[in-house]
Amino acid sequence: MGLSTFEGGIHPPEHKELAEHSAIVEAKAPSRAIIPLSQHIGAPCESIVEIGKEVKKGEVVGNPGGFVSAPVHSSVSGKVIAIGDFPASNGRMVPSVVIENDSKEEWAPLKDDPDYMSRNADELREMIKNAGIVGLGGATFPSHVKLSPPKEKPIDAVIINGAECEPYLTADHRLMVESPKEVVEGLKIVMKVLGVKKGYIGIESNKPDAARIMSEAVAGESNIEVHVLQVKYPQGAEKMLIKSILDREVPAGGLPMDIGVVVHNVGTALAIYEACRFGKPIIERIVTVTGKGIKEPKNLKVRIGTPVSQLIEEAGGFIDDGPVKVIIGGPMMGFAQYSLDVPVTKGTSGVIAMTSDEYEPTEKFGPCIRCGRCIDICPMGLMPSMLSLFSEKGFYEDCKEYNLFDCFECGSCTYVCPSKRPIVQFVRLAKSMVKP
Ligand code: SF4
Ligand code: SF4
Repeated sequence: MGLSTFEGGIHPPEHKELAEHSAIVEAKAPSRAIIPLSQHIGAPCESIVEIGKEVKKGEVVGNPGGFVSAPVHSSVSGKVIAIGDFPASNGRMVPSVVIENDSKEEWAPLKDDPDYMSRNADELREMIKNAGIVGLGGATFPSHVKLSPPKEKPIDAVIINGAECEPYLTADHRLMVESPKEVVEGLKIVMKVLGVKKGYIGIESNKPDAARIMSEAVAGESNIEVHVLQVKYPQGAEKMLIKSILDREVPAGGLPMDIGVVVHNVGTALAIYEACRFGKPIIERIVTVTGKGIKEPKNLKVRIGTPVSQLIEEAGGFIDDGPVKVIIGGPMMGFAQYSLDVPVTKGTSGVIAMTSDEYEPTEKFGPCIRCGRCIDICPMGLMPSMLSLFSEKGFYEDCKEYNLFDCFECGSCTYVCPSKRPIVQFVRLAKSMVKP
């Protein structure tokens, strides 16, 4: 029997060999941590500190601005030296708190609780919320919101997403290999919060060591299954993962909870465990620093707020010829950078420095030649060609007829287009011009 998968999708070169065997190492704490007040989908936080205030590691510096929001914490101990707009990896200026590290590493008081599983669902959810946990796979949706489905949407399955289908990235792979028990504990907490009896862990078959180690970690847990999935992009997108593992389809415009499913990334599961077990907020994450433009590709445990330039130094710096492009996130869905002075945030899964071997700049794109390749591979069954044509001509409203908002910007259509049409950019433009 073939491995589980979904319709459509593509097979870009993986390049995972650059960092997949590199064990996670702790990066140096930054001398100045830049903590953006918006690191998640939803309302930005409001700063609760002022310039000159001494803060501890793990202390809240920004309170959530609504239910769909998540607090932000200091990743160092030290003094607040600035509050203002600073460049972020999404190309925008984002209100941020800057903390000068005093190197004392003094923690704010944490609520250690070895007996965390005896807490009730509301208490566990509150601990997750207070820890500022958001989807660490890159989506950055606040985790407590996913764990608060309305009563009319009962959940019967939780999936932990270990697909890591973006080329180059290996942070989730290493987490599964190095911290399997903690990931499973995170899954069990999510299952308890949601009152769910069945848990799944989805892993692409290009990570056989992670699949074996996670299978060993769930041995004896009759209600948790590890599913090995076909290697295909975007296997790790929530809707594709649910189709591959459970053969359920999220309706157009709907959410996984509409079909009884909640999905969390492996890094998020580990963060959930650490929040409930140790009371630890999200102040660090694993980041893959890789690409042929990097001398020593690595998986680093990095404090939130560390400048990306520091990570590049810790990975040996750029090769002598330098990269032609630096991307934060994966190469398919990440953002190209014009400055390396942006901070790592909760959603930073990777920093990729590409050489001319890996990336060929295209100055011009051509007309749509109606080849249909983008339609064949769109995992959502959309017509990307029509979305790009309407958006290009400024007929943004017409894009809605072609289910504009079902596009989750995976980039597969742009990847296969022989005319090099920037279809995702056209989609983003149309989305910004019309209301859902
Ligand atoms: S239209 Fe959207 S969902 Fe479909 S392939 Fe393109 S980016 Fe992916
Ligand atoms: S792949 Fe490009 S050229 Fe082919 S139909 Fe789609 S947009 Fe047109």
